Amino acid sequence: MPDVLLRGGCVVDANGDRLADVLVRGSEVSAVGKGLLAPQGALVLDVDGCTVSPGLVDLHAHLREPGAEESECVETGTRAAALGGYTAVVVMPNTDPPIDSASMVREMHELRSKSLVEMAVAGAITVGRRGEALAPIGEMASLGVTIFTDDGAGVQDGGLLRAAMEYATGIGVTIAEHCEDASLAAGGAMHEGGWSSVLGLPGAPAVAEEVMVARDLALARVAGARLHLMHLSTAGSIDLVRRARADGVQATAEVSPHHLSLTDEALVSYDTNLKMSPPLRSGGDVDALRAGLVDGVVDAIATDHAPHPAESKEVPFIDAANGVLGLETALALALTMLAGTGAGRRAGRPPGRRSGAGAPACDGPPSSADRLTTYRGAAPASRALSIREVLAVMSWNPARIASLGNTQGGPIVPGAPANICVFDASSSWVVDPARFASRSRNTPFGGWDLTGKVVHTICAGEPVVLYGEAQR
Ligand SMILES: [Zn+2]
Repeated sequence: MPDVLLRGGCVVDANGDRLADVLVRGSEVSAVGKGLLAPQGALVLDVDGCTVSPGLVDLHAHLREPGAEESECVETGTRAAALGGYTAVVVMPNTDPPIDSASMVREMHELRSKSLVEMAVAGAITVGRRGEALAPIGEMASLGVTIFTDDGAGVQDGGLLRAAMEYATGIGVTIAEHCEDASLAAGGAMHEGGWSSVLGLPGAPAVAEEVMVARDLALARVAGARLHLMHLSTAGSIDLVRRARADGVQATAEVSPHHLSLTDEALVSYDTNLKMSPPLRSGGDVDALRAGLVDGVVDAIATDHAPHPAESKEVPFIDAANGVLGLETALALALTMLAGTGAGRRAGRPPGRRSGAGAPACDGPPSSADRLTTYRGAAPASRALSIREVLAVMSWNPARIASLGNTQGGPIVPGAPANICVFDASSSWVVDPARFASRSRNTPFGGWDLTGKVVHTICAGEPVVLYGEAQR
């Protein structure tokens, strides 16, 4: 592996923002500072005008291997991740067979040889994800698994979840829940509200999520457990987390890019790429998710990258599979929708090259709520996020939640593992699903004009993405 010198970028990490070159040697950052000299043979990348940050960490990716490789596999999914600026992903256990035993965890660990980024494995809470009996959580934890979830469904049996939490607390691992009461959500194809009445589609009510969030927070309190709440989608859920955290419950929360960018009104198109679980909610819910990011109740943006082949989406809306791709669009959506990078952009500027009298790299884009990209049916968040705040919820917070802090999300300083994302926050591009590295195409964002483009991704010192192109 050649040395890599990132010259002229703005380094943004938990320590702050500063103009500095970054030299990567082997798998580590070896120097950070102005005017660094390139060692002989080094790959020198001019990143003037770009942000140089710790790599992104996704807490919630479905890579479909084993069992549904026609949708995605570890190689294509992690290539999509790298192109999206991710240097680590946590893969969900709802594979076929599910990851509910030590032998399945070992099998997944063998697949790491095909991964372009660091791949952490989440284990199931219950055997077969059937919600009936606890899976061997301790055996999986002894192989390094730190997050357990039946994602795709929540554990419906409160007694069983309490037992899982008590066990998890004893061995220091996290229980992550897909919060949905199956009886309340039964048959729902979209959010229950005015638009489901207008469109004539059966609804899944907000309360189906909120009763489980409330139950799980209450159980986490009595068990002293570390609870992570996945893809929260309603204002009521955010409110419950806010109050429980103020009360000392150890809960963390994630939201997904699509729930931050779209409302149920978008379903007037009956586009099956808008079908997901939990469903797109109302404008008021989107406002609450954004407010949760602003005030820190929401810790992370996680993609819930859920690839599906065309045939499972090219069916009537009510029959379509749930899920949406996320890895290749998440950062740009967050920057465009939350940080207001779309304001005042110049179309067509190639990524990584400063255009004449552009803004100084470390100043970031203008940030004011009225310049945020809005969507039909909702008002913009109370204020825009800074680029560093976006990175906190996409890199170092998720790294901490996934217990990946030793390798991911840390400040870019000499001696740190070289997991780095370089992006141009002011470069605009049009989403073209045909160009995705993912094996699937199920995105509702095709044709969207986004601002913020990943230029280079370095994983453990290896440039796996250069100039927006995957290197393997
Ligand atoms: Zn889920």
